[in-house]
Amino acid sequence: MRQSCYAEISLSALHHNARVVREKIPHAKIAAVVKADAYGHGVKTVVAALEKHVDLFAVAYLEEALELRLSCQHPILVLEGFFDQQELEVAAKQNIACVVHSAYQLALLESFPCTENMDLWLKVDTGMNRLGFPLGEFQKVYMALSANIKPRSLTLMSHLSSADELESDVSARQISVFNKLVSGKNKAVSLSNSAGIMAWPSANTEQYPQWVRPGIMLYGCTPFDNSSGAEDGLQAAMTLRSTIIGLREIETGESVGYGATWQAERPSRIGVVAIGYGDGYPRHAKTGTPVLVNGQRAPLVGRVSMDMITVDLTDVEGVEIGDAAILWGQGLPAEEVARHAGTISYELLTGITARVARRVAE
Ligand SMILES: *Cc1c(COP(=O)(O)O)cnc(C)c1O
Repeated sequence: MRQSCYAEISLSALHHNARVVREKIPHAKIAAVVKADAYGHGVKTVVAALEKHVDLFAVAYLEEALELRLSCQHPILVLEGFFDQQELEVAAKQNIACVVHSAYQLALLESFPCTENMDLWLKVDTGMNRLGFPLGEFQKVYMALSANIKPRSLTLMSHLSSADELESDVSARQISVFNKLVSGKNKAVSLSNSAGIMAWPSANTEQYPQWVRPGIMLYGCTPFDNSSGAEDGLQAAMTLRSTIIGLREIETGESVGYGATWQAERPSRIGVVAIGYGDGYPRHAKTGTPVLVNGQRAPLVGRVSMDMITVDLTDVEGVEIGDAAILWGQGLPAEEVARHAGTISYELLTGITARVARRVAE
């Protein structure tokens, strides 16, 4: 493992962001989403940091839940639920809550004898058209669950497709459809991801026990375009760091990197940073993507290689071999880097590879 390149995980940022969720919606219980190795931060570290702030941990797959179960006493929810009878049996035995989103899962539950100790979340599709029972089937499925299958608890949920788009009226429609469906059922409900928590108060009514499902905001990034977590009161939990391992002076007209895609327009000082797409730094990051070198912004120039990137240090004073480079995190929002790479912060964070050590900081 290279010592020079690592992702620093800030416990104080995780604590802070969890407090932000709690303060925004004090009446809700928090299901912290820690799928995909806690968005690349390291699930063990994140769970230990968040345990005292949140009420449940949510992951995508049963495998993730089982790994978590080994070290975690908190309730755990599998957002995609079980895929077959064996998974259902394991989930029941390990006290792992499951989302029920499809008819094949309902069929498995109907012939499963041990549902009375299970916590189930019924997912209805209010417009995402991905997972969840169609609106027209909701009543029937709800009746089957509450009258026949009789789990220990039943929570009603849906997912917002466009909550990060503040101008769109899609969320308002989904929220209104959902609130009508759950009305009078007296069950706990859950609709909000980070964007719902931050921008759609009507998604988090106090009428019924409420669960919110924050993911990206816990890690300090905003779900909204053209903003950053820092602007929205959050703190970056991951700072991706490496160092300068090479320096050279080049003449006007000389090119840098594979494909010679960038040419110097003036005599330039080029720094080589030990990070590349083999570490999860996005290969699509364009010339001009900011990198922090000794705390100052320098533009990436030329193509991203597997193990290295090149930055133009002509305007950065006094850089030496071994100096620090920050690729994103504190002082440089991952959202901004993501925009330069044509993607979103979620993909950057979850894309950090096993070659990069995670180091925990206070
Ligand atoms: C991943 C996920 C979330 C978290 O979404 P963020 O945008 O990261 O807050 C919430 N709910 C479900 C069902 C998810 O799959």
